Order: sequence, then C-alpha cells, then structure tokens
Amino acid sequence: MDRLCTITQKSDIFFKYQNTPIGLLLEYHNLNRSIEENYDNAQLLIGMCMDNRKHLHIPDNFAYIIRTGGANLRYSEFKVSYAISVGGVKHIGLIGHTNCGMVSLADRKHLFIQGLVERGGWEESRAEEHFMQFAPMFEIGNEIDFVVSEAQRLRLKYPKVVIAPMLYKVEDNRLYLINEE
Ligand SMILES: [Zn+2]
Repeated sequence: MDRLCTITQKSDIFFKYQNTPIGLLLEYHNLNRSIEENYDNAQLLIGMCMDNRKHLHIPDNFAYIIRTGGANLRYSEFKVSYAISVGGVKHIGLIGHTNCGMVSLADRKHLFIQGLVERGGWEESRAEEHFMQFAPMFEIGNEIDFVVSEAQRLRLKYPKVVIAPMLYKVEDNRLYLINEE
C-alpha cells in the first residue's frame, strides 16, 4: 500500500494533475471543495467499480461515470470513445477500490454458481459454464496493479487524454493517487 498517496491538501495532488479536472475531482471528494459549482458540460470521465460501497462527492454535471466490475473499461470502449469525441472530455480518472469483488474471482466460484441457481433460476451446469467463460475476462488480480495497467493501456489508445489511476479506500471513503514509478 506504499504506492498510495494520501491527499489531504491541494499540494498533495501531483503537479501534473493540479488545476485540471483530475485535481478538481480530488478537491471535491477529499478536500471539501464546495460542490455548489455549476457545470454545463462534463469535465472528465470517471471509470469506477459497480460496487455499492462507494459514493463520490462531486457537483452535478461534473463527470461522465462508467461503472463496471473492477473499473475495467476493456469492454466499455465505445462509451469511452463517446465521452471523448462527443462529450469533449480530455481527462479520465480511473478509480479502483480496496476489497474489490473482481479480485480472486475463483474463490467465489461456488458462491456465484449457487447464487445464480437459487436467485437467478439457472441450471447449475449453465451457471458453471457462464462463470468459466467470463471470470477470466473480469478477474483483475490486484486492485492497484490493475488500475495502473488499465491507465497505461488507455494512454496508448487515447494518447492525447490525461489518465490518472486512483484508489478509493472503502475503509475511509477517501481517494488516493497512485504513484506509478
Ligand atoms: Zn469492485
């Protein structure tokens, strides 16, 4: 966890992100900047996990948000392209989080299959096949490593967009920047 940078004052925000929509996101969420500000257009795209334990403190209209398991945008690229091309955003905040369900999916294979049978009304064999087919695509391995690799992948794909990997700690509901060096 020593790659995480605590943001408790504006100067903690990496210089390259200061006075950008990434910096503003950190100011709103971590530094209690007033969210009464008005936006006519989205300032950035936020990619974050679908997990229910996270809530961002940001103004209305401030951001496009794509929520997926593990903040994995590999299967949401058309929406990313849309936010950039039509939505006009030039920044992406990629937010992984602690205790993410997309880490070590294999450990929850039994739970997944049983739950889908009991609550989804699936046949057990079909539920197992479904898990085996998709778990490898959605497994993220490690929250921090994944969000950094995802940021690097997206930078190659959208070289003019600024992309910041971050972590949301569900233990304290704060955002942390990730030191990539
Ligand atoms: Zn998650």
